[in-house]
Amino acid sequence: MDMMTTTNSLKDQLIDRFGRRVNYLRISVTDRCDFRCVYCMEEEMTFVPRAQLLTLEELALIGQAFTELGVRKIRITGGEPLVRRDVDKLLRNLGRLPGLVELVMTTNASQLEKMAPALRAAGVKRINISLDSLDPERFRRITRVGDLDRVLRGIEAARQTGFGRIKLNSVILKNRNHDEVADLVRFAISKDLDITFIEEMPLGHNDDHDRAEVYYSSDRIRSDLEQVFTLIPTTENTGGPAKYFRMPDTDTRIGFISPHSHNFCGDCNRVRLTCEGRLLLCLGQEHSVDLRHVVRAYPGDMEKLKQAIHEAMEIKPEGHEFDLQAKPLIFRHMNATGG
Ligand code: SAM
Ligand code: SF4
Repeated sequence: MDMMTTTNSLKDQLIDRFGRRVNYLRISVTDRCDFRCVYCMEEEMTFVPRAQLLTLEELALIGQAFTELGVRKIRITGGEPLVRRDVDKLLRNLGRLPGLVELVMTTNASQLEKMAPALRAAGVKRINISLDSLDPERFRRITRVGDLDRVLRGIEAARQTGFGRIKLNSVILKNRNHDEVADLVRFAISKDLDITFIEEMPLGHNDDHDRAEVYYSSDRIRSDLEQVFTLIPTTENTGGPAKYFRMPDTDTRIGFISPHSHNFCGDCNRVRLTCEGRLLLCLGQEHSVDLRHVVRAYPGDMEKLKQAIHEAMEIKPEGHEFDLQAKPLIFRHMNATGG
């Protein structure tokens, strides 16, 4: 390889100060949601005024800049991405980007029954669906307003639509749903889905519970599951922080995302774009760059945008510093973060 090629290829990649290659972008297309999950939002929330949101065209432009800088996977999330009007238009535009290998989405499934085919047609390859309980009352208590039946119909619609492997995400809280982990795994097996258990992260003020009190570690979940299932550790990796286990006689994989008990920052390959255009360099830190300013100050100037993204790598922090005992250091809630 000659010098010129080396310089060019480095310019077209995103590498931070710690040598980590960023090839994964998560885009929060809205901070709004039709649910109010107790770990994610407060009951009363103020949302970003519509005028401050990135337009669908600006979102697509930023997605394009990232793919030209070597990003291969984009996840559309929120808030609830399916409550953003015309989100399928954005998906179609992103789905056509050369260089993008995977367009994926995280959703609460409340709108999936009607929207699953449009998402698939737009090029969404895989989806993650949040599901914390199989008991309608509990489900409502955790989501504050959600209708379990509707979500189950959404999951069924997604299964029929032909996405790649669907994964459930379950945030586990002590004395809320920790006793359901085996049932959730049984459900995943019966529907041929993967499932990941997530430790609650301290983002934003929580008006529902004391986060230290409801903490239920991945190790405890794993040991509860081992009373019922045989878990075989694997080195499989879906490009994220989850550690995976398999079980005999089923394709279902069980993952654990453990921001408290097993820090995963050393392998971080991602950045997040908020719906107002803030590029967040770390889930658990405030370091960010205002890309909305760049796209509005220099309309259509792809080089300026790419330069701003490139420079942002210089401030990507080494990792998060979550502390369940302390007051949250991060004031933004998960819905505004793009979890
Ligand atoms: N509304 C969609 C959903 O619920 O799937 C997408 C956005 S939601 C913020 C993305 C994921 O973040 C969900 O799986 C949710 O369970 C998770 N999440 C929300 N707040 C969290 C928190 N404080 N700690 C850990 N995970 C959280
Ligand atoms: Fe909405 Fe998802 Fe947050 Fe629940 S976790 S309130 S569904 S954004």
